Amino acid sequence: MQTKFIFVTGGVMSGLGKGVVTSSIAKLLQLSNQKVSCVKIDPYLNYDAGTMNPIAHGEVFVTNDGGECDMDIGNYERFLNQNLTKNHNITTAQIYSTVIEAERRGEYLGACVQIIPHVTDEIKRRIRKIAEDEKLDVLVVECGGTVGDIESLPFLEALRQMRLEDGQHNVLFVHVTLAPSLDVVGEQKTKPTQHSVQELRRIGIQPDLIAVRCSTPLLESTKKKISMFTNVTTKDVFSCHDVKSIFMVPQILYDQGIVETIFTKFGKIGLVNTSTNWDMWNSIIKSFENAKGDVKIAMVGKYVTLADSYVSVNHALKHAGAKIGKAVSIDWIDSENINGNTEQLAKFDGILVPGGFGNRGAEGIIATANFAREKNIPYLGICFGFQLAAVAFGRHVCDLKDANSTELDANTANPVVDLLPEQKTISNMGGSLRLGAHEIIIKSNTLAHRTYNSDKVMRRHRHRYEINTKYLDVFEKNGMVFSAESDNSKRMEMLEIPSHRFYFGVQFHPEFNSRPGFPEESFEAFIKAASSA
Ligand code: GLN
Repeated sequence: MQTKFIFVTGGVMSGLGKGVVTSSIAKLLQLSNQKVSCVKIDPYLNYDAGTMNPIAHGEVFVTNDGGECDMDIGNYERFLNQNLTKNHNITTAQIYSTVIEAERRGEYLGACVQIIPHVTDEIKRRIRKIAEDEKLDVLVVECGGTVGDIESLPFLEALRQMRLEDGQHNVLFVHVTLAPSLDVVGEQKTKPTQHSVQELRRIGIQPDLIAVRCSTPLLESTKKKISMFTNVTTKDVFSCHDVKSIFMVPQILYDQGIVETIFTKFGKIGLVNTSTNWDMWNSIIKSFENAKGDVKIAMVGKYVTLADSYVSVNHALKHAGAKIGKAVSIDWIDSENINGNTEQLAKFDGILVPGGFGNRGAEGIIATANFAREKNIPYLGICFGFQLAAVAFGRHVCDLKDANSTELDANTANPVVDLLPEQKTISNMGGSLRLGAHEIIIKSNTLAHRTYNSDKVMRRHRHRYEINTKYLDVFEKNGMVFSAESDNSKRMEMLEIPSHRFYFGVQFHPEFNSRPGFPEESFEAFIKAASSA
């Protein structure tokens, strides 16, 4: 069976929503009973997203197999409700490392190693391997960056070669561009699209479909003009106008006939009736539209200046709200601005502290965790928010005045949070944290057990520090229960305070498992607690 490939490129500028177009096309094919998956190519030179600043680049998304990936992988997982592995995020550094290692082993037999064919071959090999290993009907590959960037050239060249090798019935190119309107009258400008398609054709790629971002639906006359200048028929120019939620994008593309177009171009015979798939998808979208009220959540974290740095947490809160019919509003508060003024948090229905690294703003988080405990406000602490909730409890309840994490004070007399033993000798920053899905054992008769309704759960991790088990006794004596653990009780995975309305911390990252229609359990329990004043 030959897998069909759809390659999505981007023109004009970044941030047009190429990832949403990619996910939406994949979703539509999945709804049409195709076995699909997505790949993200990131042409930058980092090996993976693990060492990148979330404020500049957005969240680092962790896969089950411990990949530290671009946040688009999270979008694909949420749209498709499907787990992906780390090989679905390809970067320049991964390609070059493989080629250089092969060269050092002498595998090129004295040949001069070049971008074409050695680098392009490695790119094609990786893409084809995913298609084969997963026996896919269709693989949708998004090439990051904008056409014309130096970094993306070898990737576009490899994709061009694949079209030549596999034939036009097996490979389609979708180009995402922008049609800006400069005034309220709103003439839709086509020049940026014309130029970016010219650039794409200059490097040998003629797009089959064009998806045009615009604020209002693309006019027929604009489609015609784009068609004329880009050599793409009018019906293959698709309007991607602004909609209330990204989950509505599949429908607007469907309404313009994109599924039929793709099936026809691929020479697939006949679309099957997939109304049950659509009913399920539509009922999920409806649950978001019907969510009412306003559950006010304060998200107190370190990287709040860019909404994308906690994108999975934001989504998970909304998934949880929609499931129980509640709309959730999120206020992002920089933990550095807490400055002892925790009273600003009193007006919220729930407080969430997400993951983070390093000293800046950490005292604000400790004060926040303490405030939520004292005021009986539902609290969900994730990773850093779990560790610092333990620090706050150590200081304010267990009377360990200088309790701290050794991440924040290496010489503290009471290291209630300390380095994992295997982390003590590590010097490399990249890929060296405790990563990926690990099994967690949950104690019965706890909030954790009621929340997960199970003795065991697999969740994804990304941390270097953990609860110091020497302090377990004193914590438990004072009313904090560690309700889940892993690795034969070596590591603590969840904490709770039974006397509190809802005080819950998790060492792992529940947000990466949350999907529209299927919120992760801890988020659902948190939003339930927050909405029942
Ligand atoms: N900085 C903490 C650690 O390394 C928490 C990490 C996180 O929140 N992802 O363990």
